[in-house]
Amino acid sequence: MLPDALIDRLRTARRIGVITGAGISAESGIQTYRGVGGLYDDPERGDRTVEALSAETVLSDPDRTWRVLAELARMAADAEPNAAHHALVEMEARAEAFTILTQNVDGLHAAAGTRNLIEIHGNIRNARCTRCPHRVRFEREDLMALDGTPPCPVCRSGLRPDAVLFGEMLPEREVAAMYRAFHVQPPEVVLWIGTSALFPYILDPLFTAQRHGNVTVEVNLERTDLSAEVDFALTGRAGDLVPAIAAVFGRDAAPECP
Ligand SMILES: [Zn+2]
Repeated sequence: MLPDALIDRLRTARRIGVITGAGISAESGIQTYRGVGGLYDDPERGDRTVEALSAETVLSDPDRTWRVLAELARMAADAEPNAAHHALVEMEARAEAFTILTQNVDGLHAAAGTRNLIEIHGNIRNARCTRCPHRVRFEREDLMALDGTPPCPVCRSGLRPDAVLFGEMLPEREVAAMYRAFHVQPPEVVLWIGTSALFPYILDPLFTAQRHGNVTVEVNLERTDLSAEVDFALTGRAGDLVPAIAAVFGRDAAPECP
């Protein structure tokens, strides 16, 4: 299933950085708003979702943002981590350094047991007050039941999602964590799963890996804009390919230097 040249590189690697997007969650039954395997077979519905989850709408009509978030939570209610999420946990246990940077807000990596996780877009269950410093983490059921803006339990102002909405800046703390994980001591293997969006934070790890001669691998259902840039573009299901990668990763790695 994997090319021999990739297997050789994986066997001796100890440090891996992983970047995941909607494609890995799609295999858990979470629909994406856009793109391959995506939602909304009805693109107009996808566009309305994106608009509701935007920087403008959360200011002008926060009830609409919250209703769409509640709907997304209901659609994802039965989603569980899949074989790809679990294989990544297995790799983390064996790695000297391991980081997942995810664009997903569904919490499936954390649910699977990943420890070193950067949720670059935040988490759908987190909210923060628009007036005071209070933060809230919703139970899934409470989020699903929302019909409009929930009040802050401390000051009664409206809460807003503590996730990065369309048109908003990435959170500084997560960006700094990404920099440490992918630049300060670059991983020997960088693996993209279920994402092809060429955002700067997706491309930066690619260019860093290339400068250091580290290996770059993509797992997507079909070829993407990223495919021409990486060393190995693997097409197929993450649930098949990521366990195959985990099976060989670090098997022949030299012991850690004291
Ligand atoms: Zn408050």
